[in-house]
Amino acid sequence: MNIHEYQAKEVLAKFGAPVPIGFPALTVEEAVEAAGKLPGPLFVVKAQIHAGGRGKGKFKELAADAKGGVRLSKSLDEVKANAADMLGNTLVTIQTRDAGKQVNRLYVTDGADIAKEYYLSMLVDRASGRIAMVVSTEGGMDIETVAHDTPEKIQSITIDPAEGFQPHHGRAVAFALKLTGDLNKQAIAVAKSLYEAFVATDMEMLEVNPLVETTDGKLLVLDAKVSFDSNSLYRHPDIFALRDETEEDPAEVEASKYDLAYIKLDGDIGCMVNGAGLAMATMDIIKLNGAFPANFLDVGGGATKEKVTAAFKIILSDPAVKGILVNIFGGIMRCDIIADGIIAAAKEVNLSVPLVVRLEGTNVQQGKDLLANSGLPIVAADDLGDAAKKIVAQVKQAA
Ligand code: GDP
Ligand code: MG
Repeated sequence: MNIHEYQAKEVLAKFGAPVPIGFPALTVEEAVEAAGKLPGPLFVVKAQIHAGGRGKGKFKELAADAKGGVRLSKSLDEVKANAADMLGNTLVTIQTRDAGKQVNRLYVTDGADIAKEYYLSMLVDRASGRIAMVVSTEGGMDIETVAHDTPEKIQSITIDPAEGFQPHHGRAVAFALKLTGDLNKQAIAVAKSLYEAFVATDMEMLEVNPLVETTDGKLLVLDAKVSFDSNSLYRHPDIFALRDETEEDPAEVEASKYDLAYIKLDGDIGCMVNGAGLAMATMDIIKLNGAFPANFLDVGGGATKEKVTAAFKIILSDPAVKGILVNIFGGIMRCDIIADGIIAAAKEVNLSVPLVVRLEGTNVQQGKDLLANSGLPIVAADDLGDAAKKIVAQVKQAA
């Protein structure tokens, strides 16, 4: 689960990380009011969307040379004009795809005088089974570019969660950032607070880009992007309350209500599969046959009729879907029950695109008989390869 920058900074501040003071705003009036509570003379008006690269982003509705989604403002009038420019408009950044994201919230913060920008991020490194703290002296820019052009400027420090954050980890971070004296001490404290926030709230990823050194010698978390492990949210109701569903794909929100693992993709063949591994294999074989999946969808082991119906509706709500491939292995769930679910769902949603079904497992023959006798235009497939060939052919034929 992702959250907004202002929420991330509130979480980090609770663990002692130094963040600039600021307030969220939903209207132009609130933005001006927020700036009025700040010391000035520099204010920053920041678009709050679940995507990075806002500063260099472009608003669809504004002139091509208009400023992006992070704007320095030198007076309350400038705050007002910048807020009015952004609210309700669509910001396109390198992380939003072409559709962009509508800006419905702003964050108005105290502007910092920046001497230098650094980079610090943390993630769960599955390869080492540890937490990696990734730091670089090249902050404020696209870290992928730094990784590509000057990989030696990025350093990774791994922390064993059983051991926790030790002073030597802090010193390694400060050393990698080439910080000395008081800034060195601050870097150790910042890294420790970020590590503690990361572990205590079950973050999956934390990116501070930039971490800045101000002209008066203070380290500040100037930007923060955080995502949490969704499987842990049950034990963090306060974090779960920060969810902003308007930032998520509506179909993905709907899927989460039924406990379906659904991710929208760019192709035109909808997939309904049980088991993540089988779903991956299904997507691969669709590609192997020259087409692209419209989604990843794992209906889970206990795919009930209700779940199957909800899954069908979600797949069909995507106008890009030109055909559906159902690939179910009846292990925990019997094939005849799955077939019942498919038939009920197909009737309820008034199926308008070709549907190919591959069933395997317990009671497979009963399941196939039910589908064959349903009177619905369902194409049965013998195995995964056959299923992929058939759905790709049907979709190409219809095009
Ligand atoms: P992003 O573009 O979505 O990553 O948003 P950031 O919060 O990282 O802001 C983008 C850039 O705006 C930063 O790298 C800074 O260069 C600049 N910026 C943001 N806040 C301030 C500030 O308080 N003072 C100054 N001088 N620049 C800022
Ligand atoms: Mg940034």
